[in-house]
Amino acid sequence: MKRESSFIKLANGLTHQPRKRFGQNFLHDENAIEKIIDAISPCKEHHIVEIGPGYGALTNPLFKSGAKLDCVEIDQDLAKFIGDKFGNSKNFQVFQKDILKFDLALLSKKEKTLRIVGNLPYNISTPVIFHLLKNHLLIADMIFMLQLEVIQRMSSTVGDKNYGRLSLMAQYYCEVEHLFNIPSSSFTPKPKVVSAIVRLKPHQKLPVKAKDPSCLQNVIRTAFNQRRKILKNSLKTVVSNSILEGLPIDTNLRPENLSLNDYVIISDAISG
Ligand code: SAM
Repeated sequence: MKRESSFIKLANGLTHQPRKRFGQNFLHDENAIEKIIDAISPCKEHHIVEIGPGYGALTNPLFKSGAKLDCVEIDQDLAKFIGDKFGNSKNFQVFQKDILKFDLALLSKKEKTLRIVGNLPYNISTPVIFHLLKNHLLIADMIFMLQLEVIQRMSSTVGDKNYGRLSLMAQYYCEVEHLFNIPSSSFTPKPKVVSAIVRLKPHQKLPVKAKDPSCLQNVIRTAFNQRRKILKNSLKTVVSNSILEGLPIDTNLRPENLSLNDYVIISDAISG
């Protein structure tokens, strides 16, 4: 792949101009690619879903591993490029789709069968993770390149300055492990933020279980929408003070001082 001005020359003679709206920062650094593939450790028994294959930096080695590979790419030109390059077979499919509207259940109905990977478009990385977590039962693990700052938010614990909705919901469903960082010089064009690799592994059994996870999400979202307020003021719209005062939780605390278990207690008190 050769870069000419802002265009990238693809192997089939086509050129591609990276599209900012699709968060396109392409990996070109062979060492970084090898390190990511080592972390994924693909083999022919795996069923892998790659989000945003781009022009195939990770797709190539994933394909070569013999794994069953499904790719979801929103960019029409790149989806065509990837489809032409790898063909359509029992073991390889490319869907020209928006991952935010893509139903993972189309690919597998069996629990813990899908491995989801990708160098995610940073502009939509949080919504992508929330979307995938809706199907957490189907997922064996997820290995993503993300902005380091997003990984720090995901792995923060109670009391940390980055602790919030993303930390709580990611940890409700998954073990979160920050693996390593990737320098900006590994991409074309270079992103302005630091990038890193994270592994999200859905829990075998949820450590705490809410009666209604969508109620839990709503309580957490409402609390953190007014981060500076103490609980009894920020949660007024979702739970009455009389219910809240009856729970084993100090209602004068701020949202960042409550554990996941505390939020589950509040959510369960209002979801019946
Ligand atoms: N995997 C390639 C690499 O590492 O060089 C490309 C990574 S680039 C950061 C993100 C990729 O996700 C691009 O190919 C982009 O077109 C694709 N993408 C962006 N938004 C998407 C969406 N909503 N659904 C599916 N793919 C998307």
